[in-house]
Amino acid sequence: MMTLKSKSTEQLKGNIKGKVVLPLDASYDEVREIWNGMIDKRPAIIVQCQGADDVVHALAFARRNGLDISIRGAGHNIAGNAICDDGLMIDLSTMKNVRVDPDRRRAYVEPGVTLGVFDAAVQAHGLATPIGINSTTGIAGLTVGGGFGWLTRKYGMTVDNLISVEMVTVDGDLIRASEDQNADLFWAIRGGGGNFGVVTQFEFKLYPVGPEILAGLIVFPFDQAKQVLTKYREFVESAPEELNVWVVLRKAPPLPFLPEDVHGREVVVLPIFYSGDIEEGQKLIEPLRQFGDAHGEHIGVQPFVDWQQAFDPLLTPGARNYWKSHNFTELSDGALDSIIEFAGKLPSPQCEIFVGLIAGAPNRVAPDTMAWGHRDARFVLNVHARWDDARDDDTCITWAREFFKSSAPYASAGAYVNFMTEEEGDRVAAAYGANFARLVEIKKKYDPENVLHLNQNIKP
Ligand SMILES: Cc1cc2nc3c(=O)[nH]c(=O)nc-3n(C[C@H](O)[C@H](O)[C@H](O)COP(=O)(O)OP(=O)(O)OC[C@H]3O[C@@H](n4cnc5c(N)ncnc54)[C@H](O)[C@@H]3O)c2cc1C
Repeated sequence: MMTLKSKSTEQLKGNIKGKVVLPLDASYDEVREIWNGMIDKRPAIIVQCQGADDVVHALAFARRNGLDISIRGAGHNIAGNAICDDGLMIDLSTMKNVRVDPDRRRAYVEPGVTLGVFDAAVQAHGLATPIGINSTTGIAGLTVGGGFGWLTRKYGMTVDNLISVEMVTVDGDLIRASEDQNADLFWAIRGGGGNFGVVTQFEFKLYPVGPEILAGLIVFPFDQAKQVLTKYREFVESAPEELNVWVVLRKAPPLPFLPEDVHGREVVVLPIFYSGDIEEGQKLIEPLRQFGDAHGEHIGVQPFVDWQQAFDPLLTPGARNYWKSHNFTELSDGALDSIIEFAGKLPSPQCEIFVGLIAGAPNRVAPDTMAWGHRDARFVLNVHARWDDARDDDTCITWAREFFKSSAPYASAGAYVNFMTEEEGDRVAAAYGANFARLVEIKKKYDPENVLHLNQNIKP
């Protein structure tokens, strides 16, 4: 492992407000842990930043010492690029402030904020914006990759609601980017990932949501999967955008509303979310109950912040995870058959295939408005292989890869960079499609030496 001269690290410590963590420090192993338990990397130095000035010092130190740089928000990304071997990790998880301006419906958010912290702060004012579905995910990585969740059909992608960012460039300049200032950089940061600089503050647009919404699950037997998925496909064609319904195929967790003999068996789950008038929502979801003979359901009025944490118990940190993802414009019969075939051979009790519905507001934005340009995508599919024992790596990874291959012919162009693994570097150009060439030009302007290359890398 690389060791740094103690004189230079002491100097860095003296310059920053946050903390420097080195391999021999007691907190080192805890600080270098990230969500995906498969990733075990050992940085030469970790800088736990307390503000933009600390980021400037960390970047300068890394460049002076010829170190690779990784950027960590909340450390959720599956590829594990938040951390690196022998380099410097800029750890932003210590920057957790959220300021809400309820009159202007704006939130100013530091990059270490998790979705749970964000939701709690904005929901205190009855406000929200579209973000992901797991409360421990980081707002930073989610936003720079695109971002979608239950509110996306109605209000768009997370990046569609980004007003401005403050960021530190690789040369150490603290700048603001918005539609009016450094507009090219603002275009790139909305989907282009961690390629262009280190964001130290995000400004989001907010909407009145809840605080109570209608949400829950209906669980159907796996042998009715084709019927349920076909009816789902028809139903979502005309469902209003306040209503979002996803599909999850997995082995049933021991949920108390399911008969015990269903626990551990393959099921089709419809997670349902409705943010409009509750009575109206009750009527709208009624047809979903007729999709088959459900094993059970658990649907009710609940605080938005509770629903935003509903899947946390299935997504705890530390397990081994391997993901693959496609976008879909349509769910063709071939796509449904492939989903059902592979959901019928899940290699572990935690593996799942999910289909997220994003049809609505995102499709009304022109594809070249910003880096995230998959404006024809109406569904995002993720095959989520998840298991505990390293001896199951091959079986679980092979299952995910084979499903990915089998479903590929039915997918539309592009891919969601936030769901890509470390080994998918050669898929980056295809993931961005027509927007890739402009991203390369902007990368050349803001990071010509590819200082920030530990990401889904856009090479200058
Ligand atoms: C359990 C789980 C559930 C998820 N659910 C959803 C979902 O519902 N919707 C969705 O859209 N996505 C979802 N995701 C994907 C998620 O958006 C990405 O994993 C995202 O990268 C997480 O952000 P982070 O800050 O936690 O990640 P990190 O691993 O800390 O960062 C990921 C990358 O983002 C870049 N980055 C981070 N911070 C900054 C910054 N301040 N400035 C510049 N670049 C930065 C870096 O390149 C870094 O390597 C989910 C992921 C997991 C693991």
